Amino acid sequence: MEKFFYIKTYGCQMNFADSHRLISFLVKNGFVQVFSPEQADIIIVNSCSVRKHAEDRMFGYLNSLKPLKKKGKIFCLYGCTANLYGSKILSKYPFIDVVCSPNRFFESIKILQEFSSYKKKVVLQGESNNPFLEEIPNIKNQVSCEVSITKGCNNFCSYCVVPYARGKLISKPPEKILDEVKKLVEKGVKEIVLLGQNVNEYGKDIGSIDFVKLLEEIHKIDGILRIRFLTSHPKDVPENLISSFKNLPKLCKHFHLPLQSGSDKILKLMNRQYTISHYLKIVENVRNFVPDISITSDIIVGFPSETEDDFMETYKFIEKIKFDELFVFKYSPRDGTESSKLKDDVPEEEKEKRHKLILNLQEKITQQINQNYKDRVVEIFVEKESYKKKGYLIGKTETNKPVFFKGDSSEIGKILKVKILEGFTHFLSGEIFSE
Ligand code: SAH
Ligand code: SF4
Repeated sequence: MEKFFYIKTYGCQMNFADSHRLISFLVKNGFVQVFSPEQADIIIVNSCSVRKHAEDRMFGYLNSLKPLKKKGKIFCLYGCTANLYGSKILSKYPFIDVVCSPNRFFESIKILQEFSSYKKKVVLQGESNNPFLEEIPNIKNQVSCEVSITKGCNNFCSYCVVPYARGKLISKPPEKILDEVKKLVEKGVKEIVLLGQNVNEYGKDIGSIDFVKLLEEIHKIDGILRIRFLTSHPKDVPENLISSFKNLPKLCKHFHLPLQSGSDKILKLMNRQYTISHYLKIVENVRNFVPDISITSDIIVGFPSETEDDFMETYKFIEKIKFDELFVFKYSPRDGTESSKLKDDVPEEEKEKRHKLILNLQEKITQQINQNYKDRVVEIFVEKESYKKKGYLIGKTETNKPVFFKGDSSEIGKILKVKILEGFTHFLSGEIFSE
């Protein structure tokens, strides 16, 4: 008999990429995807634990589904939270049946197929020799697709739960990545977004290839128009990656380089292994090579012992660098991490205040940068139709800015020249440019 599954995903792009592959793996094995938990036999939540807020939201959602348990549904917690807490989850949430680490999706399929014959709950925690699902997502009319190139992380930034939740760094073998990209091209994909917690460490565990070499190999694949990647750790940015932004025309001019803090004292406590002057040098170097590159970043405010002065160092550094976009987070202590041993001594209101100050500053900077696009003619990759306005399309500049413009859906998947009419904080508006 057919089994119906529903999947809900929380967290980062990597989690979504994992879910897309899990969906096609389940479908290939005879399961049928449904889009509401009520219709499903199996409910899967792919979880995120990076901040407590994300975790709380996810557990809140699971709790709200509890009444469905009476109808005999199988509840599965997959992903980072599953791996972090393992069987401990079962005592707090006894209605959960299957707990599965992000590294063990492959093994979980058998469990789901035969679940009724398991008398006990199942916990698949920890590492696996085969952490990647070799599956091509079931895509339709999709021209951009994410491909994870590594799993896990060896960096142990003191605040971060990822190395515990996702385990040690494992690189996907290059031939598998190239094969995956070629198969995606056959399905109509023209833009590839490479994902890793720190892509610059790609291949360190294999030895025979590094990230730049991988980029060069993907660049050779016919049919690929654009390549993006994230994330880069500032301690590991090689000179040849910076020159790649110029030498590899398909590589988009967008560099996501998390700063986390503008204070050397805090960076040290975060175990980030670089200084502000090192970070500044990378930015200057990149901008020398590619002046119009967009640089985006992540910031944590309210890390333990962050004083007003430390915070102001971050604030001033942001004013100086002028990022294109920033993701700003309030520090959230995570069990098991090094920083959770430090006193979480910045009061919540102060974290909130610092968070707002940076968001306000960044909004002005982004607005200014985006307004400077006005009247420029830029190349955009057309991704999809706009949900908001009929007859309008959304494309992206190489610098990762969404552009909203009037056009026919036959343009999707093409690179077009567009004249920018207006620059707003979160998008640009434009019109197709004809010479
Ligand atoms: N691998 C990436 C992203 C990791 S998680 C990197 O190295 O940057 C994404 C972002 O969440 C981080 O960059 C950081 O800014 C934020 N983050 C991670 N742990 C956090 C915590 N405990 N509290 C607040 N923000 C956190
Ligand atoms: Fe977390 Fe640091 Fe690894 Fe990023 S590099 S995933 S912040 S430990």
